[in-house]
Amino acid sequence: MPDIMTICNYCGCGCGVYLRVEQNRVVGSYPSKNHPISRGNLCSKGWHLHEFIHSAERLTEPLLRKDGELRPVSWDEALDYTASALTETKEKFGTNAIGVLASAKCTNEENYLLQKLTRIGLGTNNIDHCARL
Ligand code: SF4
Repeated sequence: MPDIMTICNYCGCGCGVYLRVEQNRVVGSYPSKNHPISRGNLCSKGWHLHEFIHSAERLTEPLLRKDGELRPVSWDEALDYTASALTETKEKFGTNAIGVLASAKCTNEENYLLQKLTRIGLGTNNIDHCARL
C-alpha cells in the first residue's frame, strides 16, 4: 500500500506528514517535503505520530471509576456523570472550584466554544491551555 499523506493532529500548526502502512498497520510517520506549512520538517510529536494508533494503551471509550476501578461506560453515562459532578461542585463550592483545560489538539473554533461554555455555561474564568503547562 502506498504511504498516506495527511495532517499531523497533535497541534494546530497543521504539518504535512506521511503515514507508512504495512500489512494494514500504520508503522511509521515522516514529513512531507513539499507541504507549504512544514516544508519537510516535523517536531518530535509528528515523528512519533503513528505510535498511538495501534497502541494497547490507547483510550477508545470513556472510563468511569466504580468501586475503585476504571470501567468502560457509554458516552451518555460519562456525559451525564460529568454534568452532575459539575453541577454538584458548583452548588457546593461555587464556580471558582471548577477549572477547565483546553487542548492544542482541538481547532481554534473548538477552543473558542470551550471558553464560551466555561465562562457562560459554568460561570468561571478558570480556563487555561495545555500550551502553557
Ligand atoms: S509535527 Fe509538531 S508542530 Fe507540526 S502539527 Fe504535529 S505537533 Fe504540531
